[in-house]
Amino acid sequence: MSSLTFVSQKASKKNHNYPKPIPAYFPTSKDSILIPKFEFYDLVKESPRHLVASHHVPIRSGKAWKAKKGSIVRISTPEGPQVCDFNCWSADSDFKEHMWASRTRQLHSAHVSVYDKLWSNLPYLRPMLTIIDDSLADYGPDEHNGRVHDLLGTRCDPYVDKLLSGQDNDFHCHSNLYRAIREYGGEEENIHDVLNIFQLTGLNEYDQYFMETCPAKSGDYFEFFCEIDLICAISACPGGDLSNWGWGEGASDENNQNVSDMTGVCRPLQVEVFELDDPLAVLAGWESPSPVKYNGNHGI
Ligand SMILES: [Zn+2]
Repeated sequence: MSSLTFVSQKASKKNHNYPKPIPAYFPTSKDSILIPKFEFYDLVKESPRHLVASHHVPIRSGKAWKAKKGSIVRISTPEGPQVCDFNCWSADSDFKEHMWASRTRQLHSAHVSVYDKLWSNLPYLRPMLTIIDDSLADYGPDEHNGRVHDLLGTRCDPYVDKLLSGQDNDFHCHSNLYRAIREYGGEEENIHDVLNIFQLTGLNEYDQYFMETCPAKSGDYFEFFCEIDLICAISACPGGDLSNWGWGEGASDENNQNVSDMTGVCRPLQVEVFELDDPLAVLAGWESPSPVKYNGNHGI
């Protein structure tokens, strides 16, 4: 750890003789929406499909696209390790309904994989998508307790870069996502906490967020089923595979010396959108989820 770092948390554990807690969020019946419909999502994954859109996303750029409910989106690393910052919105909500990273962490886990869903914010709270395939599903936890596909952190942004490095840099994930959604009328404030696809992260013994080098190889992929009509956006993180991470597009040390050029570890991403060849048969019995029907009184 750098001698400049302060951390309030202690590494050594104290035993208070409390019983081991159970997860705070859990199914309360066999019909709970928290219990995945395994056979259904396996069938979706394995059924014949056809490509309807394909997007090459160059290094350090962003891309937004629409995907209809019932379609399948695959995001891949065609040339090797690269972190992908992901946002999504209900296509019918004027960017008001978006994925909610913290509730998803509570309902599933702080890293996500196959059969997990991404949930939307209030006053909606419904599954926006369900992950159906993940070539890195068996990666972790590694020796540092690192895991892939991270909901703990958020996007890199030019404000925290300026705060920490003093530099103005315009191609952070926050800005890449913002530029991308302008095509659909999105504003800067519509960018929200991300799912960091292909990103390897965890909490260390001091409870500090860490990032390891992205373990994706050429051809690795992450695939999801769209539960509702979506606008999706990704950023090919300017930190690339995070093997050389620092603040600033050309990272500098505390003496403002350029210590790394992260462009050398940046690679493109690929997005493919598929539709099922026979959606009536495969999706029989499936219904696009509705927002939770709370009465909305709030005690007022
Ligand atoms: Zn980033």
